Amino acid sequence: MARRSPCQEVSTLARMTDHGALVLHRVDELAPRLLELSHALFADPELAYQEVRSAARCADLLEDGGFDVEREAYGLPTAFAARSGDSGRHVVICAEYDALPGVGHACGHNVIAASAVGAGLALLPVAADAGVRVTVLGTPAEEAGGGKVDLILAGAFDGVDVAMMMHPTPYDEPGSVGLAIEEWSVVAHGKASHASAEPQLGRNALDGIVAGYTAIAMLRQHLAPWQQVHGVITHGGDAPNVVPERAAAAYYLRAADLAGLDDLRARIRACLEGAATATGTTVEITPVGHVYEPVRQNPGLVAAFARACESIGRPLTLDPKGPQISGSTDFGNVSQLVPALHADLAVHSWPAVNHQPEFAAHCVGPHGDRTLLDGAKAMALTALAYIENPQLVAEPD
Ligand SMILES: [Zn+2]
Ligand SMILES: [Zn+2]
Repeated sequence: MARRSPCQEVSTLARMTDHGALVLHRVDELAPRLLELSHALFADPELAYQEVRSAARCADLLEDGGFDVEREAYGLPTAFAARSGDSGRHVVICAEYDALPGVGHACGHNVIAASAVGAGLALLPVAADAGVRVTVLGTPAEEAGGGKVDLILAGAFDGVDVAMMMHPTPYDEPGSVGLAIEEWSVVAHGKASHASAEPQLGRNALDGIVAGYTAIAMLRQHLAPWQQVHGVITHGGDAPNVVPERAAAAYYLRAADLAGLDDLRARIRACLEGAATATGTTVEITPVGHVYEPVRQNPGLVAAFARACESIGRPLTLDPKGPQISGSTDFGNVSQLVPALHADLAVHSWPAVNHQPEFAAHCVGPHGDRTLLDGAKAMALTALAYIENPQLVAEPD
């Protein structure tokens, strides 16, 4: 990078301060509308790939604020791309807005979406001045399916220089850990029979599923750190006096990297197939949706985000137990492609954690509201730090 003269340094600093002050002011100005958006999303939760009203609410506000908005972007009915500028480096801020079955916005995606909208709108006036493109990308289906992988395959991240998002959690962790994950649908097939009169003619599919579940439970003690498997039995038969001819389960397999996930696949498959052999049943294993890759955090962006939090008067409240796994996300796949930041921001909910109804309450309360606005500011300042210094995201080979 060419060395800049002292004069240029001074003008860069002055501009940065101006831009920084401007984006913070913009978020404050927009606060009532951002909170209204977050609360409206919360009150009307929609599941993965069905977020029609949620996507429209975000897109409307971005369009109203001056973004050029493409709805149903990249062939996904509930995605959108709100774009500003058509040349220069390209910063993408991801907005998730899908909810969970039964517990609604217990992962706080209402806060994620409103925060992304706020960061985008705050950056809009400075983006053109700085010669950069800013896109707020509406990314459906994080909790199931993997909408960001659909978006990657459709080219939404081609030519992107930096991608970022925030996620509400019990504690702050700008460089959170996200594991690779694959979901399996498992169906066992047996043979129905009268459970009392002719049990010898039957083959119990539920036994196949239960034996597999038990074998996996015993395997757990020999898994590597951060290899995880969780399962639920989703169908166990229809009546006690009919030997179940069909039973089903769903499993999530997780690991720190793709090699660990591959190893886990083989071992879980052995448990399920061994159980099928033992019970005289057969087992059908079908991967569901996309594999989520582990999150690769860009150290420069993580540091810039942490500095931004300090600068807005939000000292980080880290987990006293040390850094924790924060599950898995399809943003992992994005982070393997471009320099990326997935920052966890506290809604100060401990001991309530993501996916609990108690956590949901925090995501629409005063802490959730504050985190939304802080997240918007910190992301906008992080984007500015990158805009002013592209070397921020450089990593040693
Ligand atoms: Zn979640
Ligand atoms: Zn989430």
